[in-house]
Amino acid sequence: MDKVRNGLRFKRKYLTLLIFLVIAVTSCSRYKDATYKKTKSLMDTFVTVTVVSDSAEKAEAAIEKAFSTMERFGRLVDFYSETSDVAEINRNSGMAPVRVSPETLEVIEKAAFVAAKSGGAFDPTIGPVVKLWDFNKKIRPSEDDIKSKLDLVDYRNIMIDRQNSTVLLKKRGMMLDPGGIAKGYAADLAVKTLRDQGIKSGLVAAAGDIRTFGTRPDGNPWNIGIKNPRPGSGSDEILATIKLGDKAVSTSGDYERYFMLDGQRYHHILDPRTGYPARGCRSVTVITDRGVFADAFSTAVFVLGPEKGLRLAEDEEMQTLIVDDNGRVITTPGLKDKLRFEKGD
Ligand code: AMP
Ligand code: MG
Repeated sequence: MDKVRNGLRFKRKYLTLLIFLVIAVTSCSRYKDATYKKTKSLMDTFVTVTVVSDSAEKAEAAIEKAFSTMERFGRLVDFYSETSDVAEINRNSGMAPVRVSPETLEVIEKAAFVAAKSGGAFDPTIGPVVKLWDFNKKIRPSEDDIKSKLDLVDYRNIMIDRQNSTVLLKKRGMMLDPGGIAKGYAADLAVKTLRDQGIKSGLVAAAGDIRTFGTRPDGNPWNIGIKNPRPGSGSDEILATIKLGDKAVSTSGDYERYFMLDGQRYHHILDPRTGYPARGCRSVTVITDRGVFADAFSTAVFVLGPEKGLRLAEDEEMQTLIVDDNGRVITTPGLKDKLRFEKGD
């Protein structure tokens, strides 16, 4: 009897020692990991890349590579530059197909896909109407000017030739503006670049477009804040936070680029049917797997408004949080339980 008990005690002691050793080894390697973070002005906004690494040099090199991937892509799809792929497509609208780089082709393909899924609420051919508005100079175009451009807005007139890697806009005067999808796609590219560099965990944030992957050094998920579209004071009040692993989060808001005129808020998310800012939402956050879809669908849901927008998100199996024009928070089923609201609700 005693012999058995001694044997058991020995085994237990041995087991305890083993468990202690395992914890010591794993926590040692964990403690070597740290987060490294850098911010750069890119694609008309500030982009922050955070990585978890056991080496400052590795982290720095990976972050720089992610930035240059985004920078290169940003140059290809810049609506306002003269030398981008997009400018070349726009110059040749109604005339000739333009050969573009694979990333440009893919982002246009995805944009056309989301346009079709949203019945044209998201429409990347909104360019001619976008050009009429100036949210910095507070320029509200005339109704006639808007009407004269609306005929040019139709994603069904984007001709994509995959084999030859070309894009043609069928009508003369049509213009692609990838502003509603480019940052999300760029965040995807950055994450791919970081992973190719051996980075296992990190976070890429391009304004309202965020991609997370892996975990924080302590093993916990990333904690992402969703902005309050009408902050009490300052500009960065958080409405709610959510813990995420490998995800994409995108927020479209009427507070990002806007001006006030005659008591009305004129903002940068336009309804392709009217050419005027879409009403019904203050902000829309979409959570899904890829940045390119989170970005385009958050714009689409915003344009559709709370009711139809929620339905689209549910059909596409995406989680969404909408703050409507009365400040009411609406979410897809199940999302509310995962959110931590900062103040009441
Ligand atoms: P986001 O901040 O992602 O919602 O994108 C807004 C940007 O997308 C605007 O600044 C325009 O460049 C462009 N845009 C505006 N309205 C639309 C729309 N209905 N569909 C696609 N892109 C749009
Ligand atoms: Mg968007």
